Amino acid sequence: MAKYDFKCKKCEHIQEEVLKISERDTAKISCAKCGSKSEYTFTPTNFYMHLRGDGWPSKTIREKNARAKRNQVMGQKQKDHVAKPELAPNYDGVRTGTWENAQAMAHDAGKNTQSYTPLIAKEKAKKIKPHKTLKKVG
Ligand SMILES: [Zn+2]
Repeated sequence: MAKYDFKCKKCEHIQEEVLKISERDTAKISCAKCGSKSEYTFTPTNFYMHLRGDGWPSKTIREKNARAKRNQVMGQKQKDHVAKPELAPNYDGVRTGTWENAQAMAHDAGKNTQSYTPLIAKEKAKKIKPHKTLKKVG
């Protein structure tokens, strides 16, 4: 059983009736005001009930599709973001912690170390300044 709104065809008075969904479209409801025939009508008061899956599937599906599309766009944006992360210091795919270490490893292996130089420069420029020494209190 659920509440449905019925609207009078003549005076447009809206009244609420408690019915089974199977009765909703066939129920003969008379207007409480003028006695004319009232028909089931969709109003915002029963909007949320419909969203919970009670006879309003098309809207739910539309919203679901819209959300899926939005998520797809968001996912793509996230991928774009992930596609260019800052390269972690590594030598030949092995994490080295710093580019300086990576260069040292490349050097030890007899490889060209020049490509590491700008990365090390960047790394050094980024190094956080040491914390201010806290004054002793008392
Ligand atoms: Zn009426």
